[in-house]
Amino acid sequence: MKFSVLPFKCPSCGSYMVSQIGSYHLVCNSCKSTKPIDAQVYVRAKEPVNESIEPNGIVKTVDCPGCGADIELKEFELSKNCPYCDNPLVTNPVNPKPPYSILPFAIDKEKARKIFKSWLGSLWFAPDSLKKLLDFEHKFQPVYAPYFSFDAKSYTAYSGQRGDAYYVEVERTVYVDGREQVVRELERRINWTYVSGDTKRDFYDILVDADSKLPEVVKGIRNYDLNRLMLFNPSFLSGFVSREYDKQMQSCYNEAKEYMGSVIYSDVLYSIGGDEQRVESINTSYSNERYEATMLPVWLSSFEYKGKQYDIAINGVTGEIAGERPYSYVKIIIAVLIVLAILSGIAYYLDITDGSASSYLKVGF
Ligand SMILES: [Zn+2]
Ligand SMILES: [Zn+2]
Repeated sequence: MKFSVLPFKCPSCGSYMVSQIGSYHLVCNSCKSTKPIDAQVYVRAKEPVNESIEPNGIVKTVDCPGCGADIELKEFELSKNCPYCDNPLVTNPVNPKPPYSILPFAIDKEKARKIFKSWLGSLWFAPDSLKKLLDFEHKFQPVYAPYFSFDAKSYTAYSGQRGDAYYVEVERTVYVDGREQVVRELERRINWTYVSGDTKRDFYDILVDADSKLPEVVKGIRNYDLNRLMLFNPSFLSGFVSREYDKQMQSCYNEAKEYMGSVIYSDVLYSIGGDEQRVESINTSYSNERYEATMLPVWLSSFEYKGKQYDIAINGVTGEIAGERPYSYVKIIIAVLIVLAILSGIAYYLDITDGSASSYLKVGF
């Protein structure tokens, strides 16, 4: 389907303008003149979860304003740059619920590079060839990713058993140097009592990534401060890759509920109290379930190493990094051998100085 792109033409020289990280301005690619983005603080307003929101995948064809080429945006692609002339191609959202808000990038390329380098430097046991590959060739891409944020109040009724530990003195027969001896020692026992009760918890801003193409590692960088959200304005997307949500809102809410359920479970254990707990039944009802669609900034990178794909993600505001990495088994084996050599050296030393200590250390070797 034919779509038009939003204009980001520089008023001074006619080249294109892209959103500048950290400034809420568009900056010209050619003459570097700037223009403020109409950035308004977003007033939080969530909608009830009770409706079903289906993503609406459409292949869009656009004319590049830079070079005139016909460019295709795949299903759910919202913006990207022209592959021929790099001109930003930003379209309007087509999903039934467009994003209400956006959290602009605060981590620019230089900061992202530093964060990545210090993460790379901390990679013990990474193969040397990998470090070279990432250091010189690998590039990160800044992406605005679609998320749903959920609120809910929960009420949980539970039943179970509370275990309180107590100690009793017992007699035990042991053999010392072949002779039988009776010793007294304390034995831990549990007194179980049936309990039931209820617990309440309110959840705010439980974030679920809503793009099935995002790598799993993004779940490791979810600490976004949503109080800094801006009203959605497509100008922020100029020069960035972005996608609309392709996951159903309801299925994302189920993911949020799984997380809430795990928090509620620990609440129940705490509420049962005692030293040990047995949970027999948990019944949770949710109310005031609300959602909003938003876009959050992520630096993404993925690389292939020996036929396997590894992903890295950096939170575009906090700089939190999460990634997968290969290990060098040769390095690990060498390190283990060195540790074993040191330990056997200590054991040998203790053997000639103190026989009792060496028999302890030799256990397991
Ligand atoms: Zn210009
Ligand atoms: Zn072009």
